[in-house]
Amino acid sequence: MNERKQTGRKASYLCSGLVYCANCGEKMHVYKSSRKGHTYLYYRCCGKCGASVVKLEDVDRVATAYIKELLSEDTQVKVARALRTYQGQEKDRVESFKSAIAKRIKEKETAYNNLLTNMTAAVLPVEVVTDLSAKMQQLKDEIAELKKAEPPADYSVDTIREWLQSIRTAPDEKAVQLLIARIEAKHTENKTDFNITSTLKPVLENMVAGEGFEPTTSGL
Ligand SMILES: [Zn+2]
Repeated sequence: MNERKQTGRKASYLCSGLVYCANCGEKMHVYKSSRKGHTYLYYRCCGKCGASVVKLEDVDRVATAYIKELLSEDTQVKVARALRTYQGQEKDRVESFKSAIAKRIKEKETAYNNLLTNMTAAVLPVEVVTDLSAKMQQLKDEIAELKKAEPPADYSVDTIREWLQSIRTAPDEKAVQLLIARIEAKHTENKTDFNITSTLKPVLENMVAGEGFEPTTSGL
């Protein structure tokens, strides 16, 4: 059996840095094993506690299945709402936008009224009146534009749900690294048991974590 340490650029796998030995609590790292021209990838305990290695493909499959289960319809709604709340006090955001717009409208109306006063205060040459009228028309247009202004778009619950749904459909490394806090693995006899903790745990207090994942693996 040939095995070697990862060299150079730190190799990155779907679950890199997330896997822990359920036997002793130490981290598990990926190592490669070549046999008869095939390369096999495993996670192995760094603690040298004697725990069996765990197939990388099992870890990846379980993590992917976990994300799919984690991001159920129900969870998507909860996460979207939690993010919205976290993201920002929608009401405050809209209010501050409105008051900024109101201020600008008031400034332009004041300018408009000043021009109007100028125009009616004295007999003015035609060119000046024409010029003032153009300026007043411009201000009127600008005021109308400001009154139509909408608050800048914010992520809606639907947008966030769409995003979560796309992650669920095809969980990638980013999604796994973002949503999974810890994967505990232990290989015994002919199966590997996993216990997965999600980073969403604080958001989803009553989610079931990592139960029911027992991929069938042939003995090593
Ligand atoms: Zn261990």
